[in-house]
Formats: sequence, C-alpha cells, structure tokens
Amino acid sequence: MALRTIRIAGDPVLEKKCREVKEMTPRLQELIDDMFETMYDANGVGLAAPQVGVLKRIVVIDCTGEDPICMINPKVIEQDGQQTGEEGCLSVPGKAGIVTRPQHVKVDCYDRDMNHVILEGEDLLARAMCHEIDHLDGKMYMDLAEGGIHDVSYDYDEEEEEAPRTI
Ligand code: ZN
Repeated sequence: MALRTIRIAGDPVLEKKCREVKEMTPRLQELIDDMFETMYDANGVGLAAPQVGVLKRIVVIDCTGEDPICMINPKVIEQDGQQTGEEGCLSVPGKAGIVTRPQHVKVDCYDRDMNHVILEGEDLLARAMCHEIDHLDGKMYMDLAEGGIHDVSYDYDEEEEEAPRTI
C-alpha cells in the first residue's frame, strides 16, 4: 500500500465525470487499498478516486474508523429527510461550508469484489455518501454551500487530540 497525493480544488481532474468500473483488477484493488490508507492518513471520513487523480467511479468511506465501506459505481436510489450542517473536503483544506443533504439515503453499488449491494446511510454516513458520489460527477460541495465557504480554525490541542475529520 502507498499514500497517494490528494488533488486540490482547481485541479481539472476534480471537475471531470468518472467512468464506470467494468471489472475488478489487481490494479484497482491496489488503488482501493491506497485510497483507504490516504483517507486515514489525512483524517478523512471519505475519499473518491478522482481526488487521487483516477477517473473511475470508486469511493471509500469510514465514518468511525472501524467501518470501512468501498462503493463501486454507486447510485443514490432513495433519499429522505434533510440535514443542514458544516461540511469540508480533503481537496479543499482549511475550509468548510454549510450544506444541506438528505438525512437518509439508499445507494445501489458494487463492493470491492463486484458483488451487487444496497447500502443505507444516515447522518454523517448519508452526508459522506452524497458528497463522494458528487465527486464522481465532477461536482464539489462549494457549489451547494449556503453563503459560500469559510476558513476553519479548530481549537484543539495538537498533542492531545486528533485533528478534526473531514469528508
Ligand atoms: Zn470531497
């Protein structure tokens, strides 16, 4: 496994539509492992393949640090409710914005062994699923942020606490 470089907003790769994965390969398995490693290293809860420069419909998410989810070719098939809250992105370091997302979503996708699965998410997981799926269509959260984005300066002790986690 290896850390990959996270692309930063302004990089054209983040504005492109990603292609569907037709078959799993050892190379893509390695990419998925690297995406998890890169996400954990950056204290993120989610990462989409275009954020490491690969235009494929692959997302990794882990909201708790213990529930890794890999979604291949994900599509939101149901959504309900609303949540409004602060959202950030690993490709937009040091910034956040207020974004409204569904409270609950159902996602049709494939797992990393290309088994067809339906996943459900609520709260932060629903937010992360929507945020990452948007990345696959070249969309960033800034376009949804009410009142634009702002600088974040978290008040935490670097030696004693972990840095805040970002989608
Ligand atoms: Zn993001």
